[in-house]
Amino acid sequence: MARTLFRHARLLDETVDLLWDHGVVAVAGPGTLTARAGDVLVDGGLLTPPFAEPHVHLDAALLGARAPNVSGTLREGISNWSRLREDLTADDVAARATATLAMYRSWGVLRWRTHVDTGSNVAVDALLSLRATTPGLQVVAFPQEGILRAPGRRDGWERAVRGGCDAVGAIPHFERTTEEGWESVRLAFRLARELGLGVDLHCDETDDPGSRNLEVVCAETLAGGVPHVVAGHCTAMHSYPDPYAARVCELVATSGVQVVCNPLDNVVLQGRYDGYPKRRGLTRVDELWAAGAIVGVGHDSVMDPWYRLGTANLLDAAYMLVHVGHLTSEAEMKRVVRCLHTENHLPWGRPPTVGVGVTELLHWAVADEVELLRLRPRPAVFVA
Ligand SMILES: [Zn+2]
Repeated sequence: MARTLFRHARLLDETVDLLWDHGVVAVAGPGTLTARAGDVLVDGGLLTPPFAEPHVHLDAALLGARAPNVSGTLREGISNWSRLREDLTADDVAARATATLAMYRSWGVLRWRTHVDTGSNVAVDALLSLRATTPGLQVVAFPQEGILRAPGRRDGWERAVRGGCDAVGAIPHFERTTEEGWESVRLAFRLARELGLGVDLHCDETDDPGSRNLEVVCAETLAGGVPHVVAGHCTAMHSYPDPYAARVCELVATSGVQVVCNPLDNVVLQGRYDGYPKRRGLTRVDELWAAGAIVGVGHDSVMDPWYRLGTANLLDAAYMLVHVGHLTSEAEMKRVVRCLHTENHLPWGRPPTVGVGVTELLHWAVADEVELLRLRPRPAVFVA
């Protein structure tokens, strides 16, 4: 196996030389390394650790063409999916999930957290089986149609959690009443504490400023006993009155809850009940950052009943985020790109770095992170 010698490559805010030798970084640092005969030489470019996808739905991926979402709303997406779900087979789920993971890998994404709809035992079992042979894949027990709103939903959700999912999900804004939404959050935390699992909810994915489940998630997190808590979407925060939003941002930061925004889906799913002007449907990333909160960026849907488009390239999600979130200063764009290989990895533990001994590495043929965002190219993926 030839060695690859990177010269004058950009690594965070430094220029380094780095040697990839038989599946591992052997040397890295400033200064010029000497090439040997047979070495592959790569001059310039950008080096990063692999990206991580904190929020995807592999059970629904690639199904969008079978049930087009005419109204564009989240609710029609859920309704279309509930019909498609009846015909799922284990082979079909595994085949689409495997194809979607291959798309992700080609874009340098080597960790995935999939939410699986616990309304389908077929999907749950298929993705838990796939996880056994797919390092880096995590499965969240996600009750797409709520835990309390329909008979039998709670049983399927609890079966999936106890069957070995990595984290407990919930969808409090989709329960019938505000109180039942809060109760579903508390049930999720109770189960997570009992089993030593994390919690990862779809939280306040609506334009309704009265959807206030995130504060309950923060309070439960502060009560302790759950290792890592993610609140996905949190789009209602976009529409909260500013004083309330400021309080919630502070609470999110204090509690350590990680907010994962999903800009591709939410920019099309939200604002659908608005006339003009139409709201953007994105949580307040700038204000969360200012409060010191932890944010992640998910792709969410890949050609599924909620979002017919999608490439599995996380840079597309980042690109949408900087536009819709007005995060277009040099520092903000760089921070969004770095999220993909730092905060996005937190559900797996400590984010990876690039240095001696590392066995996963991406090389991008661009000068810096702003160019990475602008061009969104494929990387060269180096893995042991
Ligand atoms: Zn989702």
